[in-house]
Amino acid sequence: MVNDYPVLVVDDDPVTRKMLERYLAKSNFVVELAANGKEALELYQSYFFPLVITDWMMPEMNGPELCRRIRIQNRDNYVFIIMVTARDSKKDIVSGLESGADDYLTKPFHHAELLARIKTGIRIIELEKSLRQANSEIRLLSITDPLTGCYNRLYLNERLPQELKRAHRYQRSLSIVMADIDFFKKVNDSYGHQAGDDVLRFFGKMLLSSVRESVDWVVRYGGEEFLIILPETDCKGAAMVAERLRESLEEKTIIHDNKKIKVTASFGGVCILPLILDQMPGSHAVIEFADYQLYKAKREGRNCSRIEEFKPKPKNKVCRLQAG
Ligand code: GH3
Ligand code: MG
Ligand code: MG
Repeated sequence: MVNDYPVLVVDDDPVTRKMLERYLAKSNFVVELAANGKEALELYQSYFFPLVITDWMMPEMNGPELCRRIRIQNRDNYVFIIMVTARDSKKDIVSGLESGADDYLTKPFHHAELLARIKTGIRIIELEKSLRQANSEIRLLSITDPLTGCYNRLYLNERLPQELKRAHRYQRSLSIVMADIDFFKKVNDSYGHQAGDDVLRFFGKMLLSSVRESVDWVVRYGGEEFLIILPETDCKGAAMVAERLRESLEEKTIIHDNKKIKVTASFGGVCILPLILDQMPGSHAVIEFADYQLYKAKREGRNCSRIEEFKPKPKNKVCRLQAG
């Protein structure tokens, strides 16, 4: 039996409450008691009980109403509810289950049967927990680049539009820096593809550990191109970050198979200031702008950074030919 499993017993009859408490405690459950649905919900505000055993008829709030309220809360973790009732007509049982109960027992109930049903509940709770965990692991894998641990394009496509909207709603600046390793092809050509992978891994980890945790985020945009998204950051701030990252990489030596590899990177960045824009640009436009700054950094000698305030592209003028 699972030890220390928290169970909430809800019953207006003190004798039944006490009896259930004693019986469940003997099976190593941590038991909490409530005299009706309202008290049970109050307890839920401070604690979480994965298992609830509730009476049907109670003053203030009955069992079916308690079930409905627990289900409405839509919690992250599943709550398994067993309804214990003296009502045993098929109609009552159906309405009890429809209110959100998972199982029911009719009074007077057999203790061993209650325990068996609790065990079924625990199996379902544990199954749901492992499914949820597996789902979140799959989700994380689907949005992470396996080589560097940075986010991938899928995540960028999901999150960047939200980040832009958020910046616009709260009128905050947002900067996006694109980094590209200089002459990376030469690393592959001179030291091999594995060495190239090591350099990418190193650079990705360096970026991840150099930005603000839980605020900034890093995406592997392409082969040796990364995007660093810097919320609440203006041009000056973004330029400082880009220079810090550039200098940091320049100073480092990556060791692969006892060989010392040194690389540099170029940085192009865009800073979006919503205060001076009527309309927030889309993801495509801002990435294109950062890409253009990166192109300028490459053209101006590499191992440097170019950050500029976003300016929308001038719309193509439509020329009308006037008939003679
Ligand atoms: P530049 O300074 O203009 O950026 O030159 P570059 O050589 O860095 O750029 P280029 O686009 O010519 O070459 C990028 C290379 O990156 C080519 C490609 O084979 C390599 N590459 C892309 N993805 C990976 C990867 O996952 N691992 C390794 N080892 N190499 C990769
Ligand atoms: Mg490159
Ligand atoms: Mg490139």
